[in-house]
Amino acid sequence: STSQNTEVKICVIGSGPAGFYASQHLVKHIPSVKIDIYEKLPVPFGLVRFGVAPDHPEVKNVIHTFNKTAENKNVRFIGNVTLGKDVSFKELKDAYHIVLLTYGAEENRQLNIKGENLHNVIAARNIVGWYNGLPENKDLQINLSKSTAAIIGQGNVAIDVARILLTPIDQLKNTDITQHALEVLSTSKIKEVYLIGRRGPLQAAFTIKELREMLKLKNCSTYWCDSDFVGIRDVVPQLARPRKRLTELMLTSLETTKPNADYNKFKPIFFRSPLEFSGSTGDVEKLKLCVNKLEGADILRQKAVFTEDVEYLSCDLAVTSIGYKSLEVDPAIPFDSNHGIAKNANGKISDGVFTTGWLATGPTGVILSTMSNAFGVAEYIVSDLKKCSIESKPGFASVEKLLEKRGVQLVFWENWLKIDAYEQEMGKKLGKPREKIVTIKKMLEVAE
Ligand code: FAD
Repeated sequence: STSQNTEVKICVIGSGPAGFYASQHLVKHIPSVKIDIYEKLPVPFGLVRFGVAPDHPEVKNVIHTFNKTAENKNVRFIGNVTLGKDVSFKELKDAYHIVLLTYGAEENRQLNIKGENLHNVIAARNIVGWYNGLPENKDLQINLSKSTAAIIGQGNVAIDVARILLTPIDQLKNTDITQHALEVLSTSKIKEVYLIGRRGPLQAAFTIKELREMLKLKNCSTYWCDSDFVGIRDVVPQLARPRKRLTELMLTSLETTKPNADYNKFKPIFFRSPLEFSGSTGDVEKLKLCVNKLEGADILRQKAVFTEDVEYLSCDLAVTSIGYKSLEVDPAIPFDSNHGIAKNANGKISDGVFTTGWLATGPTGVILSTMSNAFGVAEYIVSDLKKCSIESKPGFASVEKLLEKRGVQLVFWENWLKIDAYEQEMGKKLGKPREKIVTIKKMLEVAE
């Protein structure tokens, strides 16, 4: 059993919700523990900072809980350290009793269709990164000088992008949206946004809160396609509650809204798969869509199957929003490339190595589901630790030496607090809660 005076040394890789919630549970339930949270960027919180939309500030309140964990004397935040570049998986395994990988899912899924490389065909992830201040997306070339955008995908990320494109600029001005995005959006001519799904209304991936927000959006009318809803009303009584309410909301909207021709247009369309983007000038101009039908006995799990029919949609901007996958950051980490996740069984990768969050589950669910997953895996670690004896390990002391040798500037919590204060100060001048620093160089300067 765990010896009373040997400190358990745990490292957590990634400071998003998974990393923070797991650390919260571990520090509470292991008596003599030291937790080091390593983060690639000089700033914490993962997708809470770089994913969650700027007009959803209430979602970011989870940060208060993360702050408490970071301020615990047995927890250390170490930013600007990338696993697979500044430190290897093996070095961490040698230094710590437990390695917990929570580095998320950072890569776009691609459609792999013709024309995907045309200008103004952009992955949702990059647009989100651009308006949320992710350093790698600050120089995104996006052309909003024409009227029509087509978003491929109907998840909540797709809806976030649709909403940001259609929201009157006055409603974004006082959020923490980056100033560079605000400037481009304020000259935007986008008036019409399609939200394209492979399957039908019964399989729609967006949730009710996000749809309701779209239906209430100022100066915007929603247009449904009548033919997409044939037979749907008859199925409603069979549906389980959340799905039932979502479907009823779509039906009510379809049956009652009177679009205002002067308003912006939000147009969800179903049963369509993208086949090809095309354009004669280098910019996307047209999207070729295949008309799908559904197959399968279980209506909620039906699969989309191509028919012979195709359609063309004119668009000036195309956004692909078909999901994320994790990166293989270190070849020594067992990786399931089919699913784009770390190979694991209920969060365990091997003895002493665990994973949770989007790296473990794939990029599905919200912060709350990531939290339950993280608490569950943390509990697994707690019970595993009770079963084995603990020999002394060097922990941060040895990794710090390696990082110093490699010339890595470490950003501890107090250094992050300087960045935080600076950003809030910059924001104040612009009437915003924060103006994010968008280069690593500047972040490191301010952190010093
Ligand atoms: P992440 O939040 O991605 O955290 C991973 C962290 O690991 C990051 O900080 C990253 O920088 C770091 N990292 C990556 N690679 C390395 C490396 N090699 N070394 C060290 N560190 C590394 N949920 C909601 O509940 N409400 C919302 O409104 C909402 N909006 C969303 C909007 C978008 C655009 C997206 C993509 C997701 C949204 N979600 C929302 C879902 C929520 O963000 C996720 O459930 C959650 O962030 C997953 O947590 P995670 O810790 O697994 O991953």
